[in-house]
Amino acid sequence: MALKEACGLLGIFSSSFDKTIAKTVYYGLFALQHRGQESAGIAVSDTNSIRHHKGLGLVSEVFDEDELEKLCGKIAIGHVRYSTTGSNVFSNAQPLVIRYHSGELAVAHNGNLVNALEIRERLEKNGLMFHTTTDSEVIAALIARSQTNLIDSIFSCVKQIHGAYSLLLMSKDQLIAVRDPHGFRPLCLGSYNGSYVVASESAAFNTIGATFIRDLKPGEILLIDDSGLKSYELPKSKRSLCVFEFVYFARPDSTIDGVSVYLARYRAGAILAEQHPAEADLVVAVPDSGSVAAIGFSDQSKIPLGMGLIKNRYIGRTFIEPSERMRNLGVRLKLSPLKELIDGKRVVLVDDSIVRGTTMGQIVKMLRDCGAKEIHVRISSPPITHSCYFGIDTSTKRELIASRFDAESIRQFIGADSLGYLNLEGLIEATGLTEKELCLACFNGDYPVMTPMEGKKYLFEKR
Ligand code: AMP
Repeated sequence: MALKEACGLLGIFSSSFDKTIAKTVYYGLFALQHRGQESAGIAVSDTNSIRHHKGLGLVSEVFDEDELEKLCGKIAIGHVRYSTTGSNVFSNAQPLVIRYHSGELAVAHNGNLVNALEIRERLEKNGLMFHTTTDSEVIAALIARSQTNLIDSIFSCVKQIHGAYSLLLMSKDQLIAVRDPHGFRPLCLGSYNGSYVVASESAAFNTIGATFIRDLKPGEILLIDDSGLKSYELPKSKRSLCVFEFVYFARPDSTIDGVSVYLARYRAGAILAEQHPAEADLVVAVPDSGSVAAIGFSDQSKIPLGMGLIKNRYIGRTFIEPSERMRNLGVRLKLSPLKELIDGKRVVLVDDSIVRGTTMGQIVKMLRDCGAKEIHVRISSPPITHSCYFGIDTSTKRELIASRFDAESIRQFIGADSLGYLNLEGLIEATGLTEKELCLACFNGDYPVMTPMEGKKYLFEKR
């Protein structure tokens, strides 16, 4: 079963039949491409039936003009998907479109359920068959089994599922957005030309010319139909917005729960400079993940910022490559050092995170080969010591270098002259939110929801 999914969602409820609705979703998904590069899909309802198209690959690879022109209608949802190796198969692409007692239903999901396997096994024992290995099919199955109206079915479904889920559901005449009671993943509402749009990140609104209205509240079910908006509330839980959205995952031009991702990263860099100053001539960012923090570091430390690493614009995220060998090659395909700038300098090298440690070691070596005199690595988040079960692919605990080694050993491993991580207090301060409002589990192991503890039994949910 696919256990890790960090995806992007975009849905539109148009004020009238819209011939170009799929195109608008397409552009919106384009803006969310960083949230998932493995598959993309769009489902459209013309109020009579739902049609969809999806496939493996980038948004631009999955759709062509003809395909988009065929998808006209009044409501649409789209999805981009990022999963772990092995589960990148066509059947797992979303939106999932099912036919059940009340008609057709399209489902798109961002996040990760921690009890999907359990529910699925229970349903399978009752004779249900599954066609995919995604959590999203479990959600669709639970909704389809419930014999009530869609909203009540959703209520009954979400009572049974645990974990992270931002959802878009579409029937032939309704668009429903759901954010889990912890609010792990972002989801926000906007409008354009009298139409409503819901997206994983507000940056998608800029792209399609929509205006941001508000974030969905944790535990909110938002129903959009011809009579307008109706909001329902799920029972409250501890708020646990994923802090890694601010560290790495979201776009800097998005605002999540009132916090600008750019400013959070900038402040993280500035606080990092206070916590771990360095005697150096140049601040260099690992683009793009460290770019904003490097600006904050440079402004705070008054050490000039230089573009010492040039990124190949046409390369995706290195994590897409499944094997170690391909990942190693990936770094050099992606980044190239600027010898003219680096040679003879004491460099502060800023990135947002060290996960396995492979990338940083290679970058440090590249800079040394270009004549860097000293390399002081600064990381704008704390050491990642625990796996994420809520939708960020930070790999298994064993693979996380900081779960097994202390900062000094990591410094030696990556070959840096010094290494400084932003501490957890600094990161929380950078977001402007409080510890109670964030999921910090990848940094401190404090999981807000029971997790499948890597082969061990399920723990029970903390309240
Ligand atoms: P590593 O070689 O595993 O230490 O990779 C670290 C790099 O991966 C940093 O540049 C991070 O910005 C980036 N990164 C962090 N988390 C993720 C993720 N979930 N998916 C892809 N890349 C990531």
